[in-house]
Parts: sequence; structure tokens; C-alpha cells
Amino acid sequence: MPISKTEGIVLRYTNLGEADKILTILTRNNGKIKGIAKGCRKPKSSLLSSSEIFAFSEFVLYKGTNFYHISQAVTRETFYNIRKDLLRLSYATYFAELAEAVSDEDIPSERLFLLLAKTLYYLSTENIPMGILNLGYQLKLMDISGYRPNVVRCAICRKPREEYNRFSIDLGGVICSDCGNDEEAFKISQGTAEAIKFLLNIEISRLNTKKIDNTIFNEIDRIARSFIQSHLDKRFKSLEFLDSMKDLNSR
Ligand SMILES: [Zn+2]
Repeated sequence: MPISKTEGIVLRYTNLGEADKILTILTRNNGKIKGIAKGCRKPKSSLLSSSEIFAFSEFVLYKGTNFYHISQAVTRETFYNIRKDLLRLSYATYFAELAEAVSDEDIPSERLFLLLAKTLYYLSTENIPMGILNLGYQLKLMDISGYRPNVVRCAICRKPREEYNRFSIDLGGVICSDCGNDEEAFKISQGTAEAIKFLLNIEISRLNTKKIDNTIFNEIDRIARSFIQSHLDKRFKSLEFLDSMKDLNSR
């Protein structure tokens, strides 16, 4: 049986039988995989902590016919801080659902893996406000998946401008004032295109180095979620739950 060793993050799991789990793991070397963790729900199992949601571990995997089998795991990070806070947990669940939607079985994406790993890390350390982390994660994830929002030139006339007044989800980018007023496109304020560019280009660790005012924040929030739902053609259940949690908390 082929063996592989890889870092991975548990995106989701389902219980199987008395003591097992089927884990959906985003791995660094093997892309997205489904792996059976035998006996991992027993209190003394060596796979116990690595089988928790969002756990980051070094896994040893055997490839079976339908599933991988997890033979060993060394937990690097459990992200306990995320799991103990319902709002953080809701964000992480949304991040994991997005990562699952854009990843493929057995096709590795180092960039996606690192994006998720770093985002969960900063979500757990509380150094970066969750709302900004969410915007940065969503935009970077779309970029990695081949849908980079275009904020450097008008999507219609292709000219680079100082400012743009709309963002078209269908065209995947900004529209300048010369190119008319597409009512379907989102109206954007001065500075919104610049802020999107910042969020796309900056390291996750530095996402909070630029002040983004509330109007611009809310515009990008609407654009990002609409962009994702339109291009990935999927509704995210975890996003609805996240919205209900956000209503109970402040940004
Ligand atoms: Zn134009």
C-alpha cells in the first residue's frame, strides 16, 4: 500500500461506528482527502486530538481503495481558542467550507493550504479583527482559485484609472465612470478598489496595518460574498450561521 506523510488540517468529519471518524482533510502534499481515523474517539487513542475539527497535524496515510487510512498523526496545533468561542468557530467553519469547495481530491495546492493554516492561526491568536481576516481570506481564496477580482483596470474599457465607481460581479472587476452605470453592478466609494487591492496583496499577518473605514468595509463584505457565491455557484450554509452569530456580536 502506498504510504504518504503530509501536514493537514481537518475541515470536517463524520462519525463512523462506535469509535471511528471519516475526516475530510486539506493536506499540504495530497490536496483534499477523505481519511478514516480508526478508534480516534476512544479517550486513549493516539489520533484523538488530530481528529478534532481544525486540528493541524502531521499525518501518515495509507491509500486504500476508497479512502485513505490514517495510521499515525502528530498534532501540531489544535486551535483550541477557535473551538471554545462560538463566533470564532463560525468563522473557521466558513473558512473550512470555502477551502473544501475550491480544493480537489489528490491535487495539492500549497498556496491554499498555507492560506488556511495562517488564517486559522491568526483567528486563534486574536491579533487581527475577525471581520478583516474574513475579507482578506475570501479575496485571497478567490485569487488562488483563479478568480482574482480585477481592481487595476476598468473591466469594460480596460484602462487603468485613478478611481472607479462600480464593481461588477459578472465582469469580475471594477468599472470606471466613463463606462456607464451598470445598475446590476455594486456602487463603490472612493478608496474601495484600493482597499481590495491591499487585501489581495498584503501578507495575512499584516492585514490590520491599514485602516479600512466602515463604509468601505461593508462594501467589500457585500462584494466578496456575492463574488464567491456567483463564481463558485454555491450557497454556503456556514455563512448563514455566521451571519446569525454576527448579529449577536459586534464586528
Ligand atoms: Zn471604463
